[in-house]
Amino acid sequence: MTVTTPSFATPYRTHTAGELRAEHAGQRATLSGWVHRRREHGKLTFLDLRDRYGITQVVVDQADAPEAHAVANRIRSEFVVTVEGEVALRQPGTENPRLATGAVELQARTVTILNESKTPPFYVNEPDAPVEEGTRLRYRYLDIRREPMQRRLLLRSRLVQAIREAYHARGFVEVETPTLIKSTPEGARDFIVPSRLQPGSVYALPQSPQQLKQILMVAGIDRYFQIARCYRDEDLRGDRQPEFTQLDLEMSFVDEATIMDVIEQTVLEVTKATTPERPIRETPFPRFTYDEAMERFGSDKPDLRFGMELVDLAAALRDESGEPASGFRVFDDTLTNGGRVKAIVAPGMGGASRRDTDDLTETAKRFGAKGLVHLAVQDGGALHGPIAKFLSAEIQAALIRITHAAAGDLLLIVADAPETTADVLGRLRTELGARLGLADPNELAYCWVHRFPMYQWDAEGGRWDATHNPFSGVVPEDEALLTTVSGDPARPSPQDPAGRARAMQYDIALNGWELGGGSIRIWSRDLLIKSFGLQGYALEQMRERFGAMLEAFEFGAPPHGGIAIGVDRWAALLAYQTNIREVMAFPKTQSGSDPMLEAPSPPEPDQFAELGLRFVGPPGRA
Ligand code: ASP
Repeated sequence: MTVTTPSFATPYRTHTAGELRAEHAGQRATLSGWVHRRREHGKLTFLDLRDRYGITQVVVDQADAPEAHAVANRIRSEFVVTVEGEVALRQPGTENPRLATGAVELQARTVTILNESKTPPFYVNEPDAPVEEGTRLRYRYLDIRREPMQRRLLLRSRLVQAIREAYHARGFVEVETPTLIKSTPEGARDFIVPSRLQPGSVYALPQSPQQLKQILMVAGIDRYFQIARCYRDEDLRGDRQPEFTQLDLEMSFVDEATIMDVIEQTVLEVTKATTPERPIRETPFPRFTYDEAMERFGSDKPDLRFGMELVDLAAALRDESGEPASGFRVFDDTLTNGGRVKAIVAPGMGGASRRDTDDLTETAKRFGAKGLVHLAVQDGGALHGPIAKFLSAEIQAALIRITHAAAGDLLLIVADAPETTADVLGRLRTELGARLGLADPNELAYCWVHRFPMYQWDAEGGRWDATHNPFSGVVPEDEALLTTVSGDPARPSPQDPAGRARAMQYDIALNGWELGGGSIRIWSRDLLIKSFGLQGYALEQMRERFGAMLEAFEFGAPPHGGIAIGVDRWAALLAYQTNIREVMAFPKTQSGSDPMLEAPSPPEPDQFAELGLRFVGPPGRA
């Protein structure tokens, strides 16, 4: 990453408020900024002057500079001022080691108030003061003046700069795609914008530049990237925003391995440029197939900073002939019916109170399990818990052996349908990992998950639904599976071989969060028709939705693939945040509003009239 030290000198300042050091003592300097704090000490008035670069102590002596002193005494927090004077070493013993400028102070000759400030609704000078988020968003300019938001926005800026440098260095072309487009295939609800020039018609805001980037490959751009704004009209959760930013890219004449390699190199380069101090747990990034990730972690975005992997208990619960014979009905029935009995080991939780275990059981039920079995490992190797009495000493010993549990640990067991068992234990693993502080908060653990199932069965629609996007390609060995039992792609059923086909799709995860995902696309017309058919669409119907792209494909589409990485999420995780609002300058609240701009708001009456629109009331009451 290019590092330059620009000059910040302007008619308002010779230095920034973070710049002066002992070696400047004796020089004249002018600083401008906000008053962080004012203190009076007899005939001395102290001003802490703050700008983006730091804080400098200014001292105004009534004896030396009576006029400046009079002005200083009118100043309150957050006034914007210019101070001119001489840099001096602080009195021995009064240096402030917590400030980069703490060896010196500026002895003011003149103090000029450039602008006054009302009393802020919260203390800008107390970075850790808890302030309700609504207030922070309403006065975001004051919130951003505070050190933590400054730091996070700077980190984000560095991240985006590093992304641009990494991709330009690899010959990628940065292309902007429009935000007034037609619907894209990401599966969320579109935001639409009515057209004035074509009354009754709408543009869709892009859920992603997916179609356009694939069209750019047909256009021969070969390596494209964009820091793209995307819009999805979804119900908002902590990590979702109606508009968000993706690092979007696409490459031609590549296979899955090429793309994963390029992304991995750039992710490493960008991470080291943005947060050089944070350790990266493992390189090359571990790669799991979807099946393996679900089997071992119960998640397709596993947090690899700690172990606590899911353990299959079946081997400990069956007799020599392979029959389920644990003595506990729920386990035996689950195994007989094709379900899975798996466990995680919560280290040191063997002494959990009844209340704790009830709480864990409730959590497991909330995640979708019928129940949760808990067994504490006691000194001497016996298991203790409500169902221990059903399990023979041999089975208890086998369970401890197979899970590698130690005395004082707690076994948490789910017996359910395979997907439920994996999902519930995966979520419990995440929850306990956080509760027990198992992950090193500094560490960055990236990993890949690939070979996702190509389709999932949509029982309501009676069709196969693409798990990622309808253009994801199939793993070459699985191409023959894109068939139906009926023989007719238009008559699919849940037993179809297509359900076993794996997509050339890959996700990159970081510390238990999905950072991004992409795929090698289907670029051959025959395969597209087959895949659309399984998804319940005739080519003609697909033309209505993705006409431009399908037409472009008739003019020579190269093999291509790409990925999109969530920039907000990436910045948040690098900044130790889980909420992406903390790395967005002006995010929306849970209800999709901007309390500062007061958006959304009713349009001016003639805006609706110009568009030929009339508001008829909320949906359902029209
Ligand atoms: N367009 C996809 C998404 O937004 C990413 C990709 O397949 O490149 O998730």
